[in-house]
Amino acid sequence: MASQRPGAPPSPNTDICPVCKTMRYLNRDLEFLINPECYHPMCANCVARIFADGPAQCPYAGCQKTLRKKAFKAAYFGNLAVEREVDIRRRVHAVFNKEEPDFESLADYNAYLEQVEELTFNLVSGNPDQRSKAEAEMRDWEAKHKSEIEERRRQARESEAQRLAREREAKDAARRRRLDAAREDAEEKARDAREREEILDTLATGDASHARATMQKVALKKRGQHRLDAARSSLLDAASSNLSIRGLKKDKKREAVDEGPYDPFGGLDLALQRYTLGPLDGYRNDWVDAARSRSDIVVGGYSAEEYLSRAMFEAFSGMGVFIEDEKGDGELATREAAQAAAATSDTAQKMDVDVFA
Ligand SMILES: [Zn+2]
Ligand SMILES: [Zn+2]
Repeated sequence: MASQRPGAPPSPNTDICPVCKTMRYLNRDLEFLINPECYHPMCANCVARIFADGPAQCPYAGCQKTLRKKAFKAAYFGNLAVEREVDIRRRVHAVFNKEEPDFESLADYNAYLEQVEELTFNLVSGNPDQRSKAEAEMRDWEAKHKSEIEERRRQARESEAQRLAREREAKDAARRRRLDAAREDAEEKARDAREREEILDTLATGDASHARATMQKVALKKRGQHRLDAARSSLLDAASSNLSIRGLKKDKKREAVDEGPYDPFGGLDLALQRYTLGPLDGYRNDWVDAARSRSDIVVGGYSAEEYLSRAMFEAFSGMGVFIEDEKGDGELATREAAQAAAATSDTAQKMDVDVFA
């Protein structure tokens, strides 16, 4: 549950109104309302009683917010922290409503999304400073891009209307197909009945050869009818296969820029630059030789070459780092650095001793 730090929504207790202490046990219809100003839940009676004469301060102890009756609503989510985040996201999305086609490249779009998410995060979980800064940023953006936002909203409404129209059309088509199928069924049944009568009639006249001919004719007709039906249904399928899939782009595809294979290191060159490794097995040292040959060391998969290349890497990895540049503002950094250096030199010596112990 949400912690009770200031500004965070309280955890809801759905059985007792924290304001008037009415219990659900005594009042089955107890309904809790919240106000997006502070998300303090209280029962509908309290809201009606406290805010009947206009805006008033939230009855929660220590809450300075002035609330209006009109803004109260029933929470959709049981967890009010979620309710608050969803409200904020909805508000942010109404202002930052750009979409991918508005951007030159996917990278730009992603950067925009990142920026919006940063702002949203500050609104949701930032401290009061961050929150008021994010609010100001949002107001600023809204003021500067008012016309674009309105335009985008209009487009969204239109595309929503189009989607609804498409859905309605698809539903209509399905209904028509069902009706057609039902009519064809009825027609076929009537035809069957007629044919059966025909056969009975010919049988009744007693002419066996004539009857057989009729039956053959019927069978042929049926087979032909089946083929015809199959052809017709496949035709119908083809006609109705222009399914509408939501979310597909109608306009031409943005040209895909070939950026080559994905580089997890972001262009970082991992090749050795300051030294080259010679043939590692040519390096002779009593300890290393022991590690190469002693089976109780080698059996675990220990590789002396691995050790040597790591030792070389560590020996060179401090080069090109200038402490003067790295040092931030003065004392704190130096003291910490000194402690860290002391600690590492200790462990380094220890490591030296028991490398091949
Ligand atoms: Zn109450
Ligand atoms: Zn409150």
